[in-house]
Amino acid sequence: MKVGILSFQGSFLDHSKSISEIGFNPLLIKQSKDLDFIDALILPGGESTAMKKINEFSGLLSKLDQIIKDGIPTLTTCAGTILLAKEVIGGEETIPNIDIEITRNAYGRQTESFEGNVKFFENEDIYCFIRAPKISKILSDEVDIIAEHNDEIVGAAQKNVVALTFHPELNNDEYYLNWLYDFILEGKNVRSF
Ligand code: GLN
Repeated sequence: MKVGILSFQGSFLDHSKSISEIGFNPLLIKQSKDLDFIDALILPGGESTAMKKINEFSGLLSKLDQIIKDGIPTLTTCAGTILLAKEVIGGEETIPNIDIEITRNAYGRQTESFEGNVKFFENEDIYCFIRAPKISKILSDEVDIIAEHNDEIVGAAQKNVVALTFHPELNNDEYYLNWLYDFILEGKNVRSF
């Protein structure tokens, strides 16, 4: 299985390690010409405004938009989630593919980054939130809530897209890696019901 990872900037190498760990092949995508056949896609955390700037040179994001709409299993974390949100407070929508409103930098500045307890599907663990956004509204009943932190939504799923505001790739805990393996193989809505 080949997993494409958007690699403009941000935590793409950490995602690449997770993919290797579960025995799949990571493909780092920086430009449209790097885009080969892929079985799944990851849009990592980083800085969404920087990613959008870098995209101006290649237009890669509009190609990824089409692939996502065609139904490829897609995981986004943090800035990646901002890129896919339908509405963005404190920014602009980019390639909307999940019916959520997201509020950028919702916990404060970089120094307000923290580790917190997250219920991710049926598992609880401590995960990192790095200048994280918040999923401030769910905009359609097609969206399932799949992760929570202190009664706030930190993960949502719709069709083939799973969007998180925290960084499971920095933990690589067994539960996450097993879930990731299933998600890439089975496609969509894995363990969301
Ligand atoms: N604050 C970043 C942004 O707005 C997201 C941070 C992250 O991806 N860890 O894009």
